[in-house]
Amino acid sequence: MIGNSNASEPDVILVGAGIMSATLGTVLKELEPTLNIVLFETLHDCALESSEGWNNAGTGHAANCELNYTPQRPDGSVDISKALEVNTEFDLSRQLWSFLVTKGAIPDPGAFINACPHMSFVWGAGNVAFLRQRFKEMSAHHCYHGMEYSEDRSKIATWAPLIMDGRDDKEPFAATRMITGSDVDYGALTHLLVKHLSHQPGFDVHYNRKVVGLDREQDGRWRVSVEDTNDGGASTMTAKFVFIGAGGGALPLLQKSKIPEGKGYGGFPVSGIWLRCDVDTISNRHHAKVYGKAAVGSPPMSVPHLDERIIGGKRSLLFGPYAGFSTRFLKHGELTDLFESLTFENIIPLLDVARDNFRLAEYLVGQVLQSSNQQLATLKQFFPRAVKKDWKEAVAGQRVETIKPIESKGRLKHEEGELEFGTELVVAEDKSLVALLGASPGASTAAFITVEVLEKCFDKGLATGGWRDRLKTIIPTYGIDLKKDAVATRNIRAKTAAVLKLENI
Ligand SMILES: Cc1cc2nc3c(=O)[nH]c(=O)nc-3n(C[C@H](O)[C@H](O)[C@H](O)COP(=O)(O)OP(=O)(O)OC[C@H]3O[C@@H](n4cnc5c(N)ncnc54)[C@H](O)[C@@H]3O)c2cc1C
Repeated sequence: MIGNSNASEPDVILVGAGIMSATLGTVLKELEPTLNIVLFETLHDCALESSEGWNNAGTGHAANCELNYTPQRPDGSVDISKALEVNTEFDLSRQLWSFLVTKGAIPDPGAFINACPHMSFVWGAGNVAFLRQRFKEMSAHHCYHGMEYSEDRSKIATWAPLIMDGRDDKEPFAATRMITGSDVDYGALTHLLVKHLSHQPGFDVHYNRKVVGLDREQDGRWRVSVEDTNDGGASTMTAKFVFIGAGGGALPLLQKSKIPEGKGYGGFPVSGIWLRCDVDTISNRHHAKVYGKAAVGSPPMSVPHLDERIIGGKRSLLFGPYAGFSTRFLKHGELTDLFESLTFENIIPLLDVARDNFRLAEYLVGQVLQSSNQQLATLKQFFPRAVKKDWKEAVAGQRVETIKPIESKGRLKHEEGELEFGTELVVAEDKSLVALLGASPGASTAAFITVEVLEKCFDKGLATGGWRDRLKTIIPTYGIDLKKDAVATRNIRAKTAAVLKLENI
């Protein structure tokens, strides 16, 4: 155990030591320093699952470059509403991190975040027309102030030389760039947050402790049963509030809680493979994250991208992800995870989703069967002069996409389901437990998700007792719609860019 709390009956139990629990714990302690918080983690350290640096792509998702957030309408116009949501959600994370850097809780922002331009790159006449239209609509909005567009070879080559080197001119191509983007090592950030929490009174983190049961006591508290993964020893603890931030492990725990709100949810695991290049002469020539267009039938998180990564001070390149399939819900999980999650209530929604998502299944099978030469061919679409020997395979984190029963007239229909690629908070009616399902846009929206948890479960605290004012110190634009307020957006971006050492325009 690491920490300073003697509480055997804490106020809050956080399950899982990834970026989500670390962020919620950090904000709760800022709002109410007297809270007793206990964090349980199955593994021997924090951030060893999806939040670990190489298990995700480290994009500070501001929807600058991810084309799946800006679908084209049948009339050719582009819908940027989803992109604006994601874009301004990331502003909350920037504010929280700036607050922590300014107060000295995080000594050096460069330990977890670095400036990295975000680019979209497409080829083929249809895709170029789409990107041109997307640029027209996005650059007209204050949130995308400074976005650049080019169809010019030499211009794009100055932005990202690797993608132009050796490319022929047979097909038209185009790119956009936002120089305000970032690369984030969410693993390093999680470590920094947990370290900061561990220095505070009233916080304990218990590693090698797997939460195996969640039962309601008569007084409304949650009895959390925990297994010691070293010796199999069992213990329990009760808390008023439980946050299930267990990543892929969240669905089984939600099922164990037996809250009616969790009924019918299922999960579909998607694993991923990266190609990684640590050759300095190559990685030093690529200072951007370059996102392309997703293949037909692919899930949104499988959009291929060629990224600069800075992890532990070392610059590398990452390309992918190539989707895979594993029945595990966590990288360190069990092959039986998917089967054990099947219940009487979620089997029909799951089968319904399987029937309606044939193209996804087809895509996944195609990806799993890809040879290393086929993988290289996909990489060469982005980096024509890529050579196989410079790249090695790395297994990415595991995602569990949420399958939820369809809601109709306020009631759940358990005979139909839909596949959700976003994140979803499932909240107990009495607000004493919340589970975070899904993994997209992901780590970059941890602050936004934290605010959502506060609003859904700690609404009384937010209304009284000064929490609201304190939250506004941490997130100064809390309560302001940045999508509508150009002045607030410009000001807060300038401030957070200066603290986090990012580009500002
Ligand atoms: C391939 C890939 C690429 C991604 N790219 C990006 C990106 O570019 N940008 C972005 O913002 N997001 C990205 N994401 C998403 C992001 O990684 C996740 O949304 C985020 O890391 C989830 O954090 P978490 O804390 O919820 O889960 P995790 O980091 O997975 O942590 C959950 C923790 O809970 C623990 N746990 C599980 N069950 C139990 C239990 N029963 N008891 C105790 N502990 C338990 C696990 O061991 C783990 O440590 C990506 C994800 C993947 C897989």
